[in-house]
Parts: sequence; structure tokens; C-alpha cells
Amino acid sequence: MSESLHKSALLLLGHGSTLNADSSAPTYQHAEEIRRRGIFAEVHVAFWKEEPNFRQALRQTNCTTVYAVPNFISSGYFTEQVIPRELGLSGPVTRLGHQDIFYCAPVGLDPSMTEALLRRAEQVVIASNEKIADPSKSACLFICGHGTSFNDNSTKIIHEQAAIIRARGLYADCQAVLMEQTPFVKDWRTLTDCPDVIVVPFFISDGLHSYEDIPVLLGLTHNIREKGFTNPHVEDHRRLWYATAIGTEAFIADVILAQVRQFQANHAGEVTRQNELGERVSPLEALSRFLAEKCGPWKIGEVFIRPGFDLCHLADAKADPVSLTRLETFEDLRKWILLDSAGGFRPLRAAPNLRPGWLYHASSAEDILLALDYLYPAAVANWSLTLQQELPVTAWKETAERQTGRFRIVREIDDSLIQELVSAHCQSGCLKRRLWVPAHQTLETRENEILLLCPEACNFLVGKAREKIKGSSEE
Ligand code: SF4
Repeated sequence: MSESLHKSALLLLGHGSTLNADSSAPTYQHAEEIRRRGIFAEVHVAFWKEEPNFRQALRQTNCTTVYAVPNFISSGYFTEQVIPRELGLSGPVTRLGHQDIFYCAPVGLDPSMTEALLRRAEQVVIASNEKIADPSKSACLFICGHGTSFNDNSTKIIHEQAAIIRARGLYADCQAVLMEQTPFVKDWRTLTDCPDVIVVPFFISDGLHSYEDIPVLLGLTHNIREKGFTNPHVEDHRRLWYATAIGTEAFIADVILAQVRQFQANHAGEVTRQNELGERVSPLEALSRFLAEKCGPWKIGEVFIRPGFDLCHLADAKADPVSLTRLETFEDLRKWILLDSAGGFRPLRAAPNLRPGWLYHASSAEDILLALDYLYPAAVANWSLTLQQELPVTAWKETAERQTGRFRIVREIDDSLIQELVSAHCQSGCLKRRLWVPAHQTLETRENEILLLCPEACNFLVGKAREKIKGSSEE
């Protein structure tokens, strides 16, 4: 990797989910691994459906050079429309204020994906303790993707991978199948005559689609959480194996780095202005000053920071540290904060339901910032920009106008309806102070406290707005 990356930021962009934590897990996993390798000055994540969302993605860093890599399978709706629109990108190289954003290809386009799919297919059969005597004669491998009518490119890579594998002749047949477009995965019985069938989901994570929806579409189970399924599933003397998604494989971290390398090779002439820091005070500088100037302990949301940098829940401020569960890694911290005390998923990190009973010892201001980015994503970045009077604030009307696809309908929500939604979901359900019209609140600053700020309606609220009109929740 190029020397210059040591002063650049890497931004991993994932889908995320408001319903479960599995969707964002691989993106966090690969970000941690790349951060551990020390290749970039900073490594950040951002999501479509979770915090920090795409709109806040670039605020997290002050680096003037940012490599943005979509942790998505295909070039399509998200990588060609949603991400450029939300980040404000105009092409592979975009100058935004003091930053150059280098927009790399999604990980799913890397040629190594073919081997990963084949590995998954082989492993799922081995793990079942059954054998396929000669897959080239009896087995069909289905590569399963999502499919969407919003962008024709979304399914291209699924068909390409199926064609590459088919040409190798390792299986009697290899086809692309899709959840929401033809050829439908639910039609697997008629799409092939092979007695042995393997389905590999070409998805980044074992989230809602690959873990729950596809097994139901295949007829493996009616409810995977209650009933599960066994590999192979036998039906009319045919055997069907269903594998797990490839996105959690450790080698994806290398694929992400390969996308950066490929970008540098393709845009050598444009990757020239490098590596100064912007003039803006960075989130880390703002946090370091705050910790140095204000005597501890400090507070942010429901988190209490003791001098010496122990982080715990406010409710445990006076507890004996020995009585608390010590979280040693960011992965421990991430797992702890995902669920509330009743075991429910916390789609809103700023909801006042953080579980108490834990302690995380940070070794430095940088370590505190990383921990806080798990607890309250991009909160320090937003607070730091507010101190400099540079935090962009977006009115509801503009947020609604930006929505596309199935969320376009929220444009019908007017100011009085959005106030109703704010009363129902923000006032008691979120600790952030709203800055956006028409739901803005006054800011009363408090000594020793980092304020949680809401500069625009979040995707959770946009989802609730859609629900208000459609009457049902839909990811
Ligand atoms: S819109 Fe409401 S729920 Fe969403 S982050 Fe802002 S205050 Fe919290």
C-alpha cells in the first residue's frame, strides 16, 4: 500500500438495518481489521439504515483525502444513486470543501468473489457430512442476489459470476437467481432438473434477506427463528443445500484494500493533492481540548467518563468498577450496546435505553473517540462542528425531498404531521437535541457535557414517516 495512505481516511459504506444488528456487523468487522493494520490515518464506517448515516459520513474525519469503499455486492441502486446523492459525490473524484473523496468500486466486483462463492458452496456440502459424487454431472449451483427495479445494473454482477462459474464446468449448471426479480429464487424447483442443488447467497451479511427471507422462499422453513432448517433439505428425492453469505469472510478486508489499490491505479493522475489536514478542528482535537480544559468527570448521553478514562453507564457512576462487566474490545462494546435490557435491538443509539453494568477503559483520547463512535455514532463530530458553527442543518422538507424509491412517499408528510411523529418517537425515545425545522429545540449547553445533536431527521424517523402513510413497516 502506498505511503500516502497513512495520512488518508478510509470510509466503509454499508447498508445496515433498523431491524437487526447482523446487517452492519461485517462492515464493522472489516473496519476493525483494517484499523488494526494501521494502514490509514483513520478508518470510519457509515450506513444507509443505521448511524452514522451516509449524510454524516464525511464529518467524522478531517483528512483531506478520503477513500470511500462501498461494502456492497453490486454496482447499482445504492452505489450509483443513493451513496453519491447522500455524500454529494459527482464522480470517482469529488472535491468537497477541503476534502478530496475518492469513490472506489464496491467490494462485490472484485474478481476474488468467484473463489469465495465456490468455497462457500463446497463448505456447505462438507459441513452437512453428505457428498455429491460428481457435481459436474448432478449439481446445480445457484448464485442468489436481491434484484431491484430501481437500477438495471444491480443484478449484473450476479449474472456475471454465474456465467464465470458455469464456464468452469465444475457444476452441471450454474445460474443466477433473485429475490425480487426473475429468475426468482422461489422457482428453483423448475429452473433446474439437477438432483443436487446448492444455493449461495451473494450478500454482504447474514441479515434479514439471506438469513430469513431466502430460506422461506426456498421452502426450507416457514420461520427460521422458530424452526430453523437442516442441510441438505430433501424434497422429492432432490437434495438442497443453502449456504451463508460471503461478506463475513476475513479476506474481505483484503478485498477492500484491493479496491483502494485499484482506484489508485485507475486514477493515478488525479490522486495528487494529498494528505494535508484540513483547517477545521477535527473531532479528535475538539475532544482532546474538551478533556483537557474541563475537569472530569464528563458526560455524553447516558455515558459517564471518569478521569483516567473509564467509560460506563451514568447509572453506574458510583459503582465499584470491579462489579461491572469489563468490555475489552470495540467488538465487546458493539455487542453490548446493540441490545436493550429486555434483549430487543436498539436501532437508535441515542435512545435512553443503554444497558448499564459495563465498563470500558480507554487508553487515550483517540480511544475514547472510537468508543464514543460506537456508543453515539458521529456525535462528537457533530458536536465539534457545532462549536465551530459549521454543522450543516437540514429542514424536514429537504430531507423528505431527498427520499427516493419506496421512501419517496414521505414527501406527503407536512409540518404538522412531522411534529406528531416527533412527539411520538423523538421526545421520549431519543436523547438528541433537534436542530432542524420544524422540530428544532433550543440548545442549553452544560459544563462537562458533550451534547448529542440531531441536525436532520434520521432514517429511523423517515421510516416512521413512511409507516404513518403506508400503515406498515418495511425495510
Ligand atoms: S430524528 Fe428524532 S429519533 Fe431521529 S435522531 Fe433526531 S431526535 Fe433522534
